[in-house]
Amino acid sequence: MSATLINGSVIREEILSELRAETEKLKAEYGKVPGLVTILVGENPASMSYVTLKIKTAQSLGYNEVQDSRPPDMSEEDLLSLIDRYNKDDSINGILVQLPLPKHIDEKKVLNAIDPDKDVDGFHPVNVGRLMIGGDEVKFPPCTPAAIQEMIIRAGVETKGAEVVVVGRSNIVGKPIAIMMMQKGPGANATVTVVHTGSKNLDAHCLRADILIVAAGVPGLVKPEWIKPGACVIDVGVNRIGEKISKKTGKTIAILSGDVDFEPACERAGFITPVPGGVGPMTITMLMKNTLKSFKYSLGLL
Ligand code: NAD
Repeated sequence: MSATLINGSVIREEILSELRAETEKLKAEYGKVPGLVTILVGENPASMSYVTLKIKTAQSLGYNEVQDSRPPDMSEEDLLSLIDRYNKDDSINGILVQLPLPKHIDEKKVLNAIDPDKDVDGFHPVNVGRLMIGGDEVKFPPCTPAAIQEMIIRAGVETKGAEVVVVGRSNIVGKPIAIMMMQKGPGANATVTVVHTGSKNLDAHCLRADILIVAAGVPGLVKPEWIKPGACVIDVGVNRIGEKISKKTGKTIAILSGDVDFEPACERAGFITPVPGGVGPMTITMLMKNTLKSFKYSLGLL
């Protein structure tokens, strides 16, 4: 293997310790900590474990974490008034509604009801608009794209003038990371191409990329020969390709693979993120970063 591994677990620990130190400093100075509420409707097991991870991370940073779990038959009206209550609560800086919601609730309506200044996921149309404008206008960059950009920066990869190719055009990864990479500023200022299911010659586009960001959800989509020698490859894909028994716990766990054929890709790429252990561990970290940012806005520090 010749590529340098961009290790998401290591970068996560670096960022979390920075956030912890800043939280302690602000607490000493202002006597307050960031407040984050996680609203979970129903008992979807995947959602429950994801929410637990968010709660544990927030607690480890010293945030005030409020877990608000509601029954699956909660009405849309009640959920909207709950959000309204947290919108008005000064001790809460970030509001997270865990998706998916039960079928009788309109997700779009619910997400749009969150105060954009507490929307630390960055999914509200106001925050999408702010991202598009760029610069100081951006309050909360969406977490997975923010994670990708942070990893590129911390790996020391030059982005100014770089050819960036993004595979995938989803609202949560492909589109926002493409916008972020083309804005002026650190970790950006690149020339960006977005390819998707309607694109021709995927291989030729990928081969031009100095930085190749793949978020398609198709295991092994990007072949090693599509990678420009020395390129930085960010594999966002998380695909369950089987199951195995964990040696540690004896429990059945998923075998995960990315969208890039990892082993042979390492022979061509200059930098590469593994799956698991790449972008995955970073997303919640960026959520915590946005929550601290929201707290700092509330203190008038930003
Ligand atoms: P999505 O299904 O919403 O979008 C996938 C995009 O890829 C689409 O825009 C589609 O046009 C494109 N695409 C699919 N097949 C293609 C093909 N054969 N050729 C070209 N383009 C193709 O998915 P998403 O939500 O953006 O997620 C993408 C992947 O990233 C998934 O594997 C998901 O699990 C993973 N993901 C990981 C994280 C994380 O690690 N934190 C976060 C979000 C998503």
